[in-house]
Amino acid sequence: MSTRYAGIAWTGTGYRVEVLDGAGRRVAEPSSWGGAQVAELISWLRELDGGRTPAVVLESTNGLLDGPMTAAGLEVYRADPWLLPPGPRFGSVPAERLAEQARNAPDALARVTAEGGSLTGRAEEYFDGVRRGEPILAELKAAGRCFEHGRRDVPRVALTFDDGPDPVHTRQVLDILDRYGARATFFCVGHHVVALPDEVRRIAAAGHELGNHSWSHPFLFDLTPDQLGEQIDRTAEALARVTGEAPTWFRPPYGALSPEVLAALEGHSTSLTMWDVDARDWARPGPERIAATVLEGAGPGSVVLMHEGAGDRGQTVQALPAIVEGLLERGLELVTVSELSAPDGTEGTDGTRPLDR
Ligand SMILES: [Zn+2]
Repeated sequence: MSTRYAGIAWTGTGYRVEVLDGAGRRVAEPSSWGGAQVAELISWLRELDGGRTPAVVLESTNGLLDGPMTAAGLEVYRADPWLLPPGPRFGSVPAERLAEQARNAPDALARVTAEGGSLTGRAEEYFDGVRRGEPILAELKAAGRCFEHGRRDVPRVALTFDDGPDPVHTRQVLDILDRYGARATFFCVGHHVVALPDEVRRIAAAGHELGNHSWSHPFLFDLTPDQLGEQIDRTAEALARVTGEAPTWFRPPYGALSPEVLAALEGHSTSLTMWDVDARDWARPGPERIAATVLEGAGPGSVVLMHEGAGDRGQTVQALPAIVEGLLERGLELVTVSELSAPDGTEGTDGTRPLDR
């Protein structure tokens, strides 16, 4: 591990960075970065202190940085909640606390890898929680309170793009969709919405739907019900400030729905949506593979999960024309999640209702 430690906290306006050396001395003055300045932040960290690049320390409530940072070759660690004091209702523990944690007990941190993703080392816990949540989720789906796919006898598909908006890829995705007259749904994180309101406006102006994907892309198992509520409400408010309309749909980061998370969501005035086709584009298997995964998996009623933010989504952009053309060739219309879930588009329900009904 590097002997320089960059604690990175997230706030309602961006990131706060504190870099300490092994003796606890500041390597640089604490700095603040906007949610869309990730590339600049990475360059800054690399050039810091004569190229003695610090190890980066993040909280499990920050799922937006490890992807781009591990892809850029930085050494990234996660400080899990049992190592830290309780976080505030909104935001992470201070950056200095994260850097101190690394300095004092580096071995307790979890190394995050590109292959393992944000939840490296916690896969078992994740799968166990999701497995325990499945019976409850099945009930919610049957009751029309969680949307996963539309009617299988209506030739329509909803493409969805998560983790944006993004300074580069959002526009590219919009251009491609526009070329084919296709509509889609963008599940944005509040952190990027406040950083890139013009991109959000662009999405809305082009006739697409905006959804809520939390504020900081946290591992939901680690949030208190209050913290979960803040993540959803603040993101909905940020979107409403830009578009004039609050989003209808919430999509949980990582689809991490344990019984505890589902209980915390109960009573929330947002509708839950998942997907039935995962493009697995986050693994960057190549554009041809991404297109093949979608075209093999999708049919009438499908909700397709893809990503346009929080990392290098160039492969997703490259795969998109083939995906759209392949679906259109089969006579499938590309619509928003709300259109796909409309009463005449769902199986035997009157549409998907918010969790508080
Ligand atoms: Zn996501």
